[in-house]
Amino acid sequence: MKTTFPIERFGGLRTPFYYYDTALLRETLDTIRREAGRYPDFCVHYAVKANANPTLLRIIRESGLGADCVSGGEVKAALEAGFPAQKVVYAGVGKSDWEIELGLDNDIFCFNVESVPELEVINALAAARGKVARVAFRINPNVGAHTHANITTGLAENKFGIAMEDMDRIIIMASGMEHVKFVGLHFHIGSQILDMGDFVALCNRVNELQERLAQQHIIVEHINVGGGLGIDYQHPDRQAIPDFAAYFATYHKHLHLMPGQTLHFELGRSVVGQCGSLITRVLYVKQGAHKQFCIVDAGMTDLIRPALYQAYHKIENLSAPADAPAETYDVVGPICESSDVFGKAIDLPRCQRGDLLALRSAGAYGEIMASGYNCRPLPVGVF
Ligand SMILES: *Cc1c(COP(=O)(O)O)cnc(C)c1O
Repeated sequence: MKTTFPIERFGGLRTPFYYYDTALLRETLDTIRREAGRYPDFCVHYAVKANANPTLLRIIRESGLGADCVSGGEVKAALEAGFPAQKVVYAGVGKSDWEIELGLDNDIFCFNVESVPELEVINALAAARGKVARVAFRINPNVGAHTHANITTGLAENKFGIAMEDMDRIIIMASGMEHVKFVGLHFHIGSQILDMGDFVALCNRVNELQERLAQQHIIVEHINVGGGLGIDYQHPDRQAIPDFAAYFATYHKHLHLMPGQTLHFELGRSVVGQCGSLITRVLYVKQGAHKQFCIVDAGMTDLIRPALYQAYHKIENLSAPADAPAETYDVVGPICESSDVFGKAIDLPRCQRGDLLALRSAGAYGEIMASGYNCRPLPVGVF
């Protein structure tokens, strides 16, 4: 499925804005439902942090996915979008009291707990409300992912999760607490993972830990393996829908569920990444001493991934005629930061003031990370 841009509709809109191809999103969700549906014990959540645009959340909720949240604000956004509380999970290394209370008051499915002190606070806050909180422990599996260093989360050096060595201790602690119920194990090793071998390594580690627990006659209700499936930033249209068949089959083959267990997933980028593009207008083409700059009206405030992770987003000139000659540009934004660059030495059909450019594959970690730095207005979504 190839995204087409209705640029005749774009003329009257203030740039920059995010354009979402909702047909592609729906097709992606249908594929997830079909491929995960082959395995009756699989249960898929959407990682709200990838994009919490209310229109997208509504479409995703309608497809039947649950919601994976990493803050109280996200729990609120998910509930407001209509996700049932029994399908909301909440992870995060630093949950504030009000955020925990919000989860308790709404009886969310599960807190993914990341430390002993957090477990104690949840137990106390649940006790004050006369409730029993369902908790899973996020275990740091010390499994690397072959991805950017800033987006690996499952190594012992990362701040996330509970060390494997401490797993038994926290489980014993929880069994002595009256207001928490230990129901699952949670993992998340990183993002933009394209090598299925990384997921196989996680499965092997989960199997080891499960065997260790089984020897103590502990079998949890569910295993949650997080998200992380990557997308093709180089070729947004080549396989716009990620290979969910291979992804779910990998887990089916390598992760050994115990009888009665369900396997949960928390997919973010792979759900919404390819359906969004940042649309921006060329302000100026400026000749520098050694190169030419294409200065656009979108900046790192609208899409921070290139500045933050040296991420690549394919850039297309939507306005240039088919026979326009190619030229080489550094495509840059207007923000007063040298890192405000979308691409260096990019070949594009010749750019002119007023041309519309698309920064592709920007549906995940794009609009949601926008900031008001330089007193800039936030970009809006167009569907
Ligand atoms: C970010 C995150 C996800 C989603 O990651 P993607 O790479 O976007 O699929 C899932 N689970 C947790 C706990 C996360 O922090």
